[in-house]
Amino acid sequence: MRRPILIANWKMYTRASDAQILATTVRNGVAPIEGVEIVLCPPVIWLSEILSVVGRGGRIELGVQNMFFEPEGAYTGEISPLMVRDLAKYAIIGHSERREFFGEKDFDVNEKVISALKAGLVPVICIGEKKREKLPHEPLRQLKEALMHVPKKSFGDIVVAYEPIWAIGTGENADPEYVAKVIHYLREVGLNETPVLYGGSVNSKNVADYGKRPEIDGLLVGGASLRAGEFINICKSWSKSKSLK
Ligand code: PEP
Repeated sequence: MRRPILIANWKMYTRASDAQILATTVRNGVAPIEGVEIVLCPPVIWLSEILSVVGRGGRIELGVQNMFFEPEGAYTGEISPLMVRDLAKYAIIGHSERREFFGEKDFDVNEKVISALKAGLVPVICIGEKKREKLPHEPLRQLKEALMHVPKKSFGDIVVAYEPIWAIGTGENADPEYVAKVIHYLREVGLNETPVLYGGSVNSKNVADYGKRPEIDGLLVGGASLRAGEFINICKSWSKSKSLK
């Protein structure tokens, strides 16, 4: 069975003390929830501090929102997958904001996926289309590019996040039935073992509708993950709708 995963993407929000309080409150609030992996992706500068809040091998895993693909070198300002691996388990790769604001191309995403796997990280590959369509082809195209030269035996070690760009941060969350249809279509590349998540304006009110769909293995939550109570409610509601303890 594919493992259920809920990922919080804090984006470029929180100052040091907010991050500490947010992580501590979430840690306490999700402690009783079992059967779903909960991952916090704070700004990388707070990673070490947040690790001391959640602890290694605890209820919460950590991730980064981006990384470079080289293991080390003269790349001022960049962070290598090996550095990430010292502190975290997951790396979000190819988020639409990286593609839009930092010119990240499919080629970069593919390099990062390969180097994340090599470093022992779980890449969370983000894909999505810009405009509403009946059945978009762009996410499948992006996925195929991201998985170039990735052996099928590694497909269980990656996570895919289907995030229609028109739904990210807009309050216009995608219809769960539509998401299920797209995910079914994406799985044609051989993603039977790969958790596929949905992301785009998820909140505590709409989360249960996604949880009811067996095709959706989890969620990537942006804005709503910055409010501790809201994120804890999302985790609880997800767990309830999937009938996890
Ligand atoms: C995201 O950042 O990937 C995201 C899904 O954001 P939001 O939940 O705010 O739409």
